[in-house]
Amino acid sequence: MDRVDLLKEPSEAFGISGYEESVVDILKKHFGDRVDITRDRIGSIIARKQGKSERPKIMFSAHMDEIGFMVKQVTKQGFIKFLPIGGWWAGNVPGLKVRIRTKNGDYIPGVVGLKPFHDLTPEERKKLPEIKDMYIDVGGAKGFDPKEKLNVRPGDPIVPEGKFEKMANSELLLGKAWDDRVGCALLVSLLENLGKVEHPNTVYLVGSAQEEVGLRGARTSAFAIDPDIGFALDVSICRDTPGNESDAAERLGGGAGILVYDSSMIPHVKLREYVCELAEANKIPYHFASIKGGYDTGTIHLTKSGVPCLALGVPTRYVHSGSSVISLEDYDNILKLITLIVKSLSADVLEKLLG
Ligand SMILES: [Zn+2]
Repeated sequence: MDRVDLLKEPSEAFGISGYEESVVDILKKHFGDRVDITRDRIGSIIARKQGKSERPKIMFSAHMDEIGFMVKQVTKQGFIKFLPIGGWWAGNVPGLKVRIRTKNGDYIPGVVGLKPFHDLTPEERKKLPEIKDMYIDVGGAKGFDPKEKLNVRPGDPIVPEGKFEKMANSELLLGKAWDDRVGCALLVSLLENLGKVEHPNTVYLVGSAQEEVGLRGARTSAFAIDPDIGFALDVSICRDTPGNESDAAERLGGGAGILVYDSSMIPHVKLREYVCELAEANKIPYHFASIKGGYDTGTIHLTKSGVPCLALGVPTRYVHSGSSVISLEDYDNILKLITLIVKSLSADVLEKLLG
């Protein structure tokens, strides 16, 4: 399947943490009957593709949830007070167009509002607004009472509005939730590739639930799988925009981001070296990346007596905002790299990595 078509649907899908079902449906549709599918009990989807050998069990985890909001309260005037779900910086929130999904399955459009700029005092203008002071305007006005007309209730999920677009530079894709729907698409592309090659292991493709609120689905699905080795497929931070070093390696077109550090895990050093050597031998561009934040591997590597793990990132601009940008070239390179990993990671190789 063409990867641009493959990427569009999950990037536009609706799913904050705990509300991932529309992404589950997309993954199920693409996985088809090529794999055995199970679920963990908090919502992750686990697809098992057996190769020539039962072991090693390799887990690839991409989280299905996106950052968003949840309805906290509907005010007397019909404005929606909300809670952030996942890591939001207040500067990225005012003016966002959003959709609220109600129990009936209606999608209510709205916009995040704040006290008007012209009414701010000089002191207020110097400060960043706080999310607790913001609200969502769903059209409450004379003759239209949202409380009466719309069945919006506390707990209803909210996501930013974000249309998928190819940029004028057609190598680049603008989308809402590349974090981590690009990883979800990679699971599908990897499975497609594995249909054409033999692999000396069994692969578990996991769409994990609730990553953005604490790597929760990766923990429960790793418990269910008991993997021998684990990878997170997620976004890494681009540092190629104004305000950063001009020669940053973490850039669009920089190839596979190999995480040397994140706040949740020190990667398995021999596994990291093995992946770097594989990339070099096959002329796949890569770079070292780091992030203040966690990946699914943060909980996978703590399963039972420990699991060698590595996080791989698709370099992405504007992570944790309403719109972000990725490059198709990076997508292709990471796909090549993970396909090679699965082709080569046998029980013998694993033994050497553990030794
Ligand atoms: Zn992520």
